[in-house]
Amino acid sequence: MLRKIKVLFLDRDGTINHDIGTYVTSRQQFRLIDRAAEAVRVAKAAGFEIVIVTNQAGIAKGIVTPEAIDDVHEYMRDLFCLDNASFDRVYYCPSHPDYPHPLYDRFSDCRKPGTGMVERAIAEYRACGCEVDLGHSFFIGDKTIDVECALRAGLRPVLVRTGHGEESLCREKNLLPEYVADDLYDAVAGYILSQQLT
Ligand SMILES: [Mg+2]
Repeated sequence: MLRKIKVLFLDRDGTINHDIGTYVTSRQQFRLIDRAAEAVRVAKAAGFEIVIVTNQAGIAKGIVTPEAIDDVHEYMRDLFCLDNASFDRVYYCPSHPDYPHPLYDRFSDCRKPGTGMVERAIAEYRACGCEVDLGHSFFIGDKTIDVECALRAGLRPVLVRTGHGEESLCREKNLLPEYVADDLYDAVAGYILSQQLT
């Protein structure tokens, strides 16, 4: 018997940390958006598993290494820890259709708006005896591809205005999020928690 869990899927750049207009290749370039760690702590306290899914095609392009990405994620874990927050899993997609790479082409289905990373997380939870309750699971991101990924995967999309959020709003004609939040904290505290009561 699988145990049902609810998951908060999070985009990284522009949602958790400031989008710097290029790939984050080092700890020095990684800065949390205000109250992002607090948002994660609050979501975790409300019973959500926290799963980060991020496109990192800088790997296929040769701009950043997987080791550097892992180090940035260790740093993110440390920063969260300072606010008593933590995440459960992080997945990154190294591939890009315009930059064929013998090591990464097999990951081509992971690139958002593809749902490969979300599906992998769901499969890994299932292997641990947990079934992701899609109807009570959310995906928060700053781009249209995040909203599209969420809808394709059957998750509930929330768009944040941080990062590319404002410009994504204009593109979203047929890809509407459930809620548009000022930032990650507003998405969690101002919307998702209120949905838990209904
Ligand atoms: Mg983003």
